[in-house]
Amino acid sequence: MAPLRYEYTIIKKSPRSHLQRFGKTIQLYAPLYLSNECVDTCTYCGFSRENRIERKTLTPDEVLSEAQFLIHQNFQHILLVAGEHPKHVSPDYLEACLLKLKPFVSALSIEVAPFEAAVYRRLTQAGLDGVVMYQETYDPEIYAKMHKGGPKKDYQQRILAPEEVAKAGVRQLGMGILLGLADHQKDAAALIKHVRHIQKKYWQTEITISLPRLRPCASSFEIPHPVSDEEFIELIAMLRCELPEVGIVLSTRESPALRDQLIGLGITRMSAGSRLEPGGYQQPEKV
Ligand code: SF4
Repeated sequence: MAPLRYEYTIIKKSPRSHLQRFGKTIQLYAPLYLSNECVDTCTYCGFSRENRIERKTLTPDEVLSEAQFLIHQNFQHILLVAGEHPKHVSPDYLEACLLKLKPFVSALSIEVAPFEAAVYRRLTQAGLDGVVMYQETYDPEIYAKMHKGGPKKDYQQRILAPEEVAKAGVRQLGMGILLGLADHQKDAAALIKHVRHIQKKYWQTEITISLPRLRPCASSFEIPHPVSDEEFIELIAMLRCELPEVGIVLSTRESPALRDQLIGLGITRMSAGSRLEPGGYQQPEKV
């Protein structure tokens, strides 16, 4: 990677602020895809309802066998990921998966459709430790263009969804934006405001933030506002200074060189071993 063209005071300040709070620890977690069934049309996503891909939902036993693959690699934090589908990925289904995994895994989170607080309370009883709920973008017009159908189309419902998680007393809440959809600086400013709002009302909730960058997918989606490595680094440093008490999550899909730079700058958690399809860990890797 080319050296950074510029240095920001904020970048120099960031590692100090990070070390004071989090020390030198980075937690690793692995995503486990439960289902690629989805009733939504998100233009940037390969699981979008219109895309002609093979659809699959793992049974709770298949989920356990995927998890065992990860446990053998010493992963103790697993994020269960699924498309939004009320029939295939229902609260009953998620509860069954959590109950299967809980005896073997220290921390279980979900990244699925939003639910009401009562459902999160029930899932917490089954072993849920965290919920990831990204707003994707805080620009309502762009949000409407990117989310053309299905329940996720409702911007207001999405904005309120993280509060249901906090209200239910789930220990960890992951918030975030999808970089590439809209002006990243405006989205980051709105994310900071949203995080502070939740922190003020629900101080017991441990919040992490994540800023995945868009990648080309199965559809012919063109990334409207690509974010360069330099902009990405600056953004992470700025967020670390603005939200010193919040964990920052980095995807291993970023290049190793970039990851090395970011680790000292404020990252607290990183995904690893990522296979992005249901049953992916036990299939031969596609080339
Ligand atoms: S709801 Fe999630 S899985 Fe479904 S299309 Fe949108 S981003 Fe993809």
